[in-house]
Amino acid sequence: MLIGVPKEIKNHEYRVGMVPASVRELIAHGHQVIVEHNAGIGIGFTDDDYTSVGASIRQTPEEIFAEAEMIVKVKEPLAEERKHIRDGQILFTYLHLAPDVPQTQDLLNSGAVCIAYETVTSAAGGLPLLAPMSEVAGRMSIQAGAQCLEKSRAGRGMLLGGVPGVSPAKVAIIGGGVVGSNAAQIAVGMGAQVVLLDRNIDVLRRINVQFGAAVETVFSSKDALERHVLESDLVIGGVLIPGAAAPKLVTKEMVHQMKPGAAVVDVAIDQGGCFETSKATTHAEPTYIVDDVVHYCVANMPGAVPHTSTFALNNATLPYIIALANKGYKKALADDVHLLNGLNVYRGQVTHRSVAESQNLTY
Ligand code: NAD
Repeated sequence: MLIGVPKEIKNHEYRVGMVPASVRELIAHGHQVIVEHNAGIGIGFTDDDYTSVGASIRQTPEEIFAEAEMIVKVKEPLAEERKHIRDGQILFTYLHLAPDVPQTQDLLNSGAVCIAYETVTSAAGGLPLLAPMSEVAGRMSIQAGAQCLEKSRAGRGMLLGGVPGVSPAKVAIIGGGVVGSNAAQIAVGMGAQVVLLDRNIDVLRRINVQFGAAVETVFSSKDALERHVLESDLVIGGVLIPGAAAPKLVTKEMVHQMKPGAAVVDVAIDQGGCFETSKATTHAEPTYIVDDVVHYCVANMPGAVPHTSTFALNNATLPYIIALANKGYKKALADDVHLLNGLNVYRGQVTHRSVAESQNLTY
């Protein structure tokens, strides 16, 4: 199969659909890969890095879209990219179609076979192509939170791990899924006092097995949540109710009563956020203050570390790219119900229930 990797054109997007090592694997399976000029330059991969593993370089996105049988990207195609998507072409990338009517219409009109990373499922019940980004964001949340506690950011001027003879900061993590467990790992590693709250007892059991006494697990009742938020120096929001907006678990009143200079990192901001005082920010201006509490609410945290994020994403997507290339989309989708769950648009028809329902389309 001829696989195309265009350069991402979304503002400040430096990730790339395939790193040279992934290209090498596809070529070893007998496929051909064309890569747009400078597609990987944002994370330090030159055109030579790609040609040295057997890829060919094309100067324009038009050439990539015109020639490739499968397009492998990171972000959803923007309007100018969608013009080039062809009938029968496979598009494998994040799509986030539910709230995006213009994109859905363009993909329907294209006649392409559009498989969204974010709805591919796994036998274990998770979302394997979304999880790597939650891992990155969870780990970053403690790094970001530690900086928010510094005096120059209007924080309490506290070192997360303390020093001998001086107490560490208290970190409360709300939600013990992929984001929460990765945040806990870094917070423990930095020597903080860590409490993790979740409403799912099995999640608390898993955290207990993973961290033992290093993380206090707490059932997330209103009472317990309020107590730990008010006592904490740093609060991480990592809850998710699949397919729904994040619940506003931390109210304005609670934020008002937090310690002056405390910090919150609302990772769930991409689903609306779980603090009533949250509003989405960008890497250019990541924080703002409400009631003396530093808020960090960046909606695309993995964008700050595109090198790590690209590799993490590629590790997860590569087996599916190889399956689609080796078998063709019909057999690959028929053989793997979890990959089939990623199929959002099939040659003019919406094929994912929640996308169809959110836009009143037939499915
Ligand atoms: P996940 O499904 O793995 O974990 C979510 C956890 O929240 C679950 O354990 C669930 O039991 C818990 N939960 C749900 N309701 C709760 C409540 N009322 N109280 C306490 N716990 C509750 O999800 P995840 O992959 O960890 O993602 C978490 C959030 O982070 C999502 O909104 C995701 O979109 C977001 N995210 C944001 C970024 C970013 O850049 N800002 C990056 C990746 C993920």
